Amino acid sequence: MLSQPKIIIKVEVPLMMSKTCRLFAFLLISISPQLFSDTIDPIEVSLDVFQGGIVVGKVAPGYRLTYSDRELHISSSGTFVFGVGRDASGYAELKVFERNDAMSSKKIEIVERDYNIQYVEGVPQRTVTPTETDLTKIQRDAELVKAARKHELVEPLFLEGFVRPIQGQITGVYGSQRIYNGTPGRPHYGIDYAAPKGSNVVAPAPGIIRLSESDLFYSGGTIILDHGYGISSSFLHLSQVLVEVGDRVNFGDVIGLVGSTGRSTGPHLDWRMNWFDVRIDPEIVLDVLPRK
Ligand SMILES: [Zn+2]
Repeated sequence: MLSQPKIIIKVEVPLMMSKTCRLFAFLLISISPQLFSDTIDPIEVSLDVFQGGIVVGKVAPGYRLTYSDRELHISSSGTFVFGVGRDASGYAELKVFERNDAMSSKKIEIVERDYNIQYVEGVPQRTVTPTETDLTKIQRDAELVKAARKHELVEPLFLEGFVRPIQGQITGVYGSQRIYNGTPGRPHYGIDYAAPKGSNVVAPAPGIIRLSESDLFYSGGTIILDHGYGISSSFLHLSQVLVEVGDRVNFGDVIGLVGSTGRSTGPHLDWRMNWFDVRIDPEIVLDVLPRK
């Protein structure tokens, strides 16, 4: 007899960016093989997914999943993960394939968030209006970063959970529209922590170093740490990088020192997170996957 395939998605998200107002989201998706090919929706969903969110779920053995045209890695216990972008709208569509390749899709409504506008004065003007030579370097930097986030590490290290990479006052949040020296720039995708130059930056979760560069144009000293299944952390504006590509690090290992390199107005750490090239909100990751 076939076991009952079941997908459980647990999502916990900040609501309206307020710490005191969290929505605990729990999705229970139950799929029976008989209903699967029917036109009746066999899936129960009791909540929504927020922009910038990470979604961690479980699926029964023998099934394959894709999201956003990407095959999802599934752990031995059936866990999978994907991320939803800052400006994603409409529905997150998960495709579920049975053993015989029959496919069904589950559409989960994406709840939109309000992002604030943040004015940043005093960054080096050259980082707002780059020269032709700068643009060549910017392009090269972007290719390095893109390659660093392409790895398909099949160890789900992210499941060990996350801690903050530094303690410090938060001076910037995910999603803000940024105006640099009066000129609109790209949105901000990380959490900024103010901290004295030279403060330790530690690994927020286990992983493998995929990029360690001391001088990228916008982000200065930059490290990218792979936590598996496409989930990665980036650490920007470092005064020193203390790891090499290929290094394996664990919770609390010092990987770099706080600085103000690149497009920055003073010493701080900018911690970002991705699911492959989709930028997700580290605050949501801390909520959904706290260190065990
Ligand atoms: Zn920042």
